[in-house]
Order: sequence, then structure tokens, then C-alpha cells
Amino acid sequence: MRPAAFLDRDGVLIEDTGYPHRPEEARLIPGALAGLRRLHEAGLAVCVVTNQAGVGRGLYGEADVARMHLWLRDLAREAGGRITAFAHCPHHPEAGQGHYRRDSERRKPGPGMILDLLRFFPLRREGSFMVGDRDTDLRAAAAAGIPGHLFPGGDLDEFVAGILGR
Ligand SMILES: [Mg+2]
Repeated sequence: MRPAAFLDRDGVLIEDTGYPHRPEEARLIPGALAGLRRLHEAGLAVCVVTNQAGVGRGLYGEADVARMHLWLRDLAREAGGRITAFAHCPHHPEAGQGHYRRDSERRKPGPGMILDLLRFFPLRREGSFMVGDRDTDLRAAAAAGIPGHLFPGGDLDEFVAGILGR
């Protein structure tokens, strides 16, 4: 059982350019790969938890989300890091189309994605934390019973080093 770093995706690992969904256009946050490596070397599992209402809104599909996550998984591994799991929530309570229009405990600020990962992977809550760039990330962390750290932008590796050094 390992603790986990739960990372938001857009605004933490890649620039939040407004529903980014193509690896070819995605821009990594400075220090993202070094930060992933640092977390892995510190003995933490890394899990990405990301609201993807763009799917529910019909802007792109589940296959695009999967392609983005395979791209990130491979980049992390090439940089000496590991991403253990990705969780995403395609639903939106108002803007979702068809069956995507619904409330979901998995959609941040709900804790569902974090709780599911804690349940289905050999992870322990003690020592785990969340890094996000929005208040909803911190609220999801609090609801899941783990600390949340608000990433203000800049270099992710430096920010992660600060958390681990505490
Ligand atoms: Mg974000």
C-alpha cells in the first residue's frame, strides 16, 4: 500500500487552453515531467483525476481522452516517472448531452474519482494528497479526506518538491 499524489490534469500537467484534447496541441506545464519523476522516486503512486465535461458537451469523445492519457503515460515513463491510473468524469449536470447530463459524485468538487482510486488500487489515504489549480480540486480533496495543494502556476517540479519537503 502506497500513498498517492492525485494530480489534476488541465492546469497542472498541461496548460488549460480550454478543453485540450489533442496531444499534438497540448503544452506541458514547465517542470511537469520532472515533477512526475520526483513523485515516483519519492515512493508515491501518481493518479490523474480530471473533469472532462468536454465529452459530455460533445466537443470530443472518450477515445480522445484515452489518447491524451496514453500520451501522458508514455511521456511520464520516458522521463523516469509513472502514472498508475487516470480517472476522468465526462458528466455535466446542465451542459451534458443525452446520458452525459447528470450529477456525478465523481465530478469534482465531488470526491468520487479519488475515492474510487483509493478503493480499487493498493493505495492508502495516509500520506496522500491532491494538487490542483482550482478551488474545486481542493474541495474534492477535502471531501475525500486528504490534503489539497493549490498550484498557482509556474514550475510543477518546484511546487511538488515544496510539498514533499514539508
Ligand atoms: Mg485544472
